Amino acid sequence: MDKGIPRLIIIYGLCVLSIAGPCLAVALASSRISLRQQQDRAETIAADILRRALRVSAQTRASFAALRRSPDGIVCSESHIELMRQIVVKSYLLLDVGIARDDQLLCSSFGKKPVNIGSPSYLSATGNLIRNNVGHPMLLDGKMLIITEATSGVSVEIHEDTILDVSPVDSGLVIGLVGWSKRHIMMRRGDFDFNRIRGPDSEFDGFSYDGRSLIAWKRSTNADFAAVVVVGSSEILASWRQVAWMIAPLGILTCLSLLFVVRQFVRQQASLPTRIKRGLEREQFFLVYQPIVELATGRTVGAEALVRWRLDDGDLIGPDIFIPEAERHHLIEKITERVITLFERDAAGLLTRNPDIFIALNFSAEDLCSSDLCFRLRQCISRMGIQPGQLHVEATERVFINHERVNQNLKALNVEGIPTAIDDFGTGYSSLAYLTSLQVNCLKIDKAFIDTIGMESVTSHVVNHIIEMAKSLNLEMVAEGVEAEQQAIYLREHGVKFAQGWLFSKPLSIEQFTHRVGETGESK
Ligand code: C2E
Ligand code: CA
Ligand code: CA
Repeated sequence: MDKGIPRLIIIYGLCVLSIAGPCLAVALASSRISLRQQQDRAETIAADILRRALRVSAQTRASFAALRRSPDGIVCSESHIELMRQIVVKSYLLLDVGIARDDQLLCSSFGKKPVNIGSPSYLSATGNLIRNNVGHPMLLDGKMLIITEATSGVSVEIHEDTILDVSPVDSGLVIGLVGWSKRHIMMRRGDFDFNRIRGPDSEFDGFSYDGRSLIAWKRSTNADFAAVVVVGSSEILASWRQVAWMIAPLGILTCLSLLFVVRQFVRQQASLPTRIKRGLEREQFFLVYQPIVELATGRTVGAEALVRWRLDDGDLIGPDIFIPEAERHHLIEKITERVITLFERDAAGLLTRNPDIFIALNFSAEDLCSSDLCFRLRQCISRMGIQPGQLHVEATERVFINHERVNQNLKALNVEGIPTAIDDFGTGYSSLAYLTSLQVNCLKIDKAFIDTIGMESVTSHVVNHIIEMAKSLNLEMVAEGVEAEQQAIYLREHGVKFAQGWLFSKPLSIEQFTHRVGETGESK
């Protein structure tokens, strides 16, 4: 339980991250992509509007220059109006040109009939009077922009469509031409407060996004106006949704992949104890037997049973991984129970036919503290019909330390005639004092010390001390992990009688081990 709750939180956390991470990434990426798309779109349209406005501006300047002086010196004379007609025909962008005084257009290319055009909307930075949204007597629904040179009264009339009829433009956009220095509206489609445009006046191209609207503008370099395009929040949202749908499959795929990784992780890490329990139910555990030989003759005298775990998919998990985990989660007694059952099933025939052969089983601390260990082993021995000496008990020296219960079990096993061995001797707290107090029969010298034989290392002398200690206490010795002939010779010469290791044999199946015993036949 104590480990379960945080683990559960970690699993939920990983799942939430696996889902939320890709969702957030899709949301952020689609927001950036759609903003970029809308910015490009707005900039393209603004550039188009500015291009049109600059052409109109050029024709306006030319008209001002031509009409400032009437050919005959009389303002609005026939020849002056004739000149106006010629200019309108040549300048295809201007709808009309004329002379304005106060709120009237005194004459224009249409003739000498004064028309009321209202007062100017503002005076531009370049000295022109601007009237916007003006009606025309010939174009009732038309929206005109009238630009009047303040000094001469020469005026040009431009239809808004000439500048704003850009394509593609739909209802979602606000477009306009703005007097830049004071943000005066010259013409526009859609409603927008152009005072919201914030940007450095030194820049001729600009772009801003305030979380609601995206504004792009392009300014004329020599006149005081700018083309402005505003993309509203609903347009941005629609574009964001469209992009999000496009990249959503990628997000879903990432999400599923992450969840798969979490699932694998959970399966591998989180539930090893659960998997051990399931493995026991499904009988996935089995034993292999590593021969123990007499060094003097090479005769096989017994074997150590080593447990293996094969999953349904064929994967093999080593005891180094699952035994410590089983010990931590109090599952080791269940494994030991299965090991005893497997040992009984595997070895009964072999051991009854070969009374000189023994098999050693490994036990953990919890097993050796159990009050009925001795009783269970006695029953096992009697069911198999073997001698008590044919079953050996192995446990690491850490198991024996300071445990009254363990000592009682050792005594009881001794009484039963079941030999006991200290496993991995030398790696724990071995001291002569504690060795003398224990009722054990054998020391298994750990591979770490056997490996130092023939080497000039600090620990290479320890093996001699262990051998001497065992001899003085009259204990049998089995050298573990013997891999080289030179090690075997050294051990034999120093009085170690038995050994196991890859030099003699790797762990075998019970059939292979039975065959090995039968083949040599020395034990009979
Ligand atoms: P252990 O009891 O010290 O077992 C000896 C280990 O050394 C075995 O590894 C064996 O395969 C390996 N070995 C033997 N000879 C050589 C050699 O020449 N060279 C090398 N490199 N290795 C060699 P294994 O089978 O992986 O077992 C690891 C440990 O798992 C065992 O160490 C033992 O502590 C534990 N274990 C295995 N079976 C059981 C069991 O049934 N019950 C309990 N409680 N523990 C077990
Ligand atoms: Ca062992
Ligand atoms: Ca060992």
